[in-house]
Amino acid sequence: MSTVIYWFRNDLRLADNPALRHACQTASRLVPVYCHAPDQTTEWGFERVGPHRRQFLAGGLADLAAQLGARGSALVELHGDPVGSLAALAHQTGARQIVCEAIAAPEEAAEIAALHATGLDVDCHWQSTLLDPDSLPFTSERLPDVFTAFRQAVEKAGIAPRLPLPAPALVPPLPDGFAPAPVAPNTQPFPTTADPRSAFPFAGGASAAEAHLAQYLQRKLPHTYKATRNRLAGIDDSSKFSPWLASGALSARQIMARLKAFEAEHGANEGSYWLWFELLWRDYFRLLHRKYGRRLYRASGLNGHHAPAHNPDVFARWRTGQTGEALVDAGMRELAATGYLSNRMRQIVASYLIHECACDWRAGAAWFEAQLIDYDVCSNHANWLYIAGHGTDPRGGRRFNPDKQTREYDADGRYRALWSRP
Ligand code: FAD
Repeated sequence: MSTVIYWFRNDLRLADNPALRHACQTASRLVPVYCHAPDQTTEWGFERVGPHRRQFLAGGLADLAAQLGARGSALVELHGDPVGSLAALAHQTGARQIVCEAIAAPEEAAEIAALHATGLDVDCHWQSTLLDPDSLPFTSERLPDVFTAFRQAVEKAGIAPRLPLPAPALVPPLPDGFAPAPVAPNTQPFPTTADPRSAFPFAGGASAAEAHLAQYLQRKLPHTYKATRNRLAGIDDSSKFSPWLASGALSARQIMARLKAFEAEHGANEGSYWLWFELLWRDYFRLLHRKYGRRLYRASGLNGHHAPAHNPDVFARWRTGQTGEALVDAGMRELAATGYLSNRMRQIVASYLIHECACDWRAGAAWFEAQLIDYDVCSNHANWLYIAGHGTDPRGGRRFNPDKQTREYDADGRYRALWSRP
């Protein structure tokens, strides 16, 4: 009898999860597990995972646990160093193999290497991109360095995502006599009430993701997506798929399959095309991580070795929304109060920190990591690099003039008024 551990990482779903499906097909006993990151303080002096992200994650885990429970299984939740915790769990359950998704970022890759070093067999599956890397007209090493060249090559070759897989009907039972320890209560509090101003008033988990996707399509919002996506504060202005994509409660393939069905029924237009376009950006940043790996994590990214300037006091004013630049301060208040920020506001506040405050982009990326409910290591890191000009932006970085942005996106002052207080 083979006992296998399935380690859920950023793939908190049963459907369209090839790694989980493989584990279900090969194991006679399966131990589904999630490892909570240990409490950490960043080198910039704040907790690494903030309350909004913890709360959204808790919703995703509760939903996943319920779905496993409905199939006669259960979710084991471990706290602390994942390598030590997983090795101990393997010892306890007699599992020789751990199956999980592959994540192409240095810390996540180091966890896999450390697990291998314990003698465990770790079977990693690449599954987080819309497009299968093997279907692309270039190898990972030859990924074009410019997004437009990547997109055009994909579109010219007619590459399409494969269809999403259904959830496994059966999940192998837990090992005989194994009873998961009760989940330790969270030591750090969540926000008590959601901020009524939030542009993301939704819960974590695959069920909430499915409900959101269904109503988004039913209301035909893809058709207006391109025209509204750059607005600052509306719930319907952009898709709001990102928090579920980042936690893996929803896959990009699931979205695209439903979007194709929507287009077949209601017609395609520039708006529905643009959702594919933006999901390609997400893929591109993941593939860039496969190509460059640790090199993206140097202080100056792909551009040599110099350390960026930094000023802790200026950085503290930025993250607490006290720069004196009204639009930027409004954005930083929204982020702290809700864990969400529109793409345009992310660009504006990131540019401000890097280009106007002359602070280290890695401090800003770490603050986003702590705050964002859609924190995604590849998308966050690569977007910061892009704006700082240390990634693959052919223009060498993006500087957003706050006055111009204010005139274009908040001329009537509504956004600044909405977030004029914390
Ligand atoms: P929509 O506009 O509806 O886009 C649909 C989907 O396309 C998104 O859910 C996302 O998966 C993808 N997408 C859109 N824009 C981008 C982009 N620039 N890069 C990568 N994927 C994109 N996105 C994250 O998911 N996690 C992050 O941690 C993150 N950090 C960011 C940091 C900075 C400095 C910037 C400028 C952008 C960051 N983004 C990040 C990208 C983008 O801002 C969010 O994906 C988007 O705002 C999420 O809202 P939405 O789902 O409504 O997006």
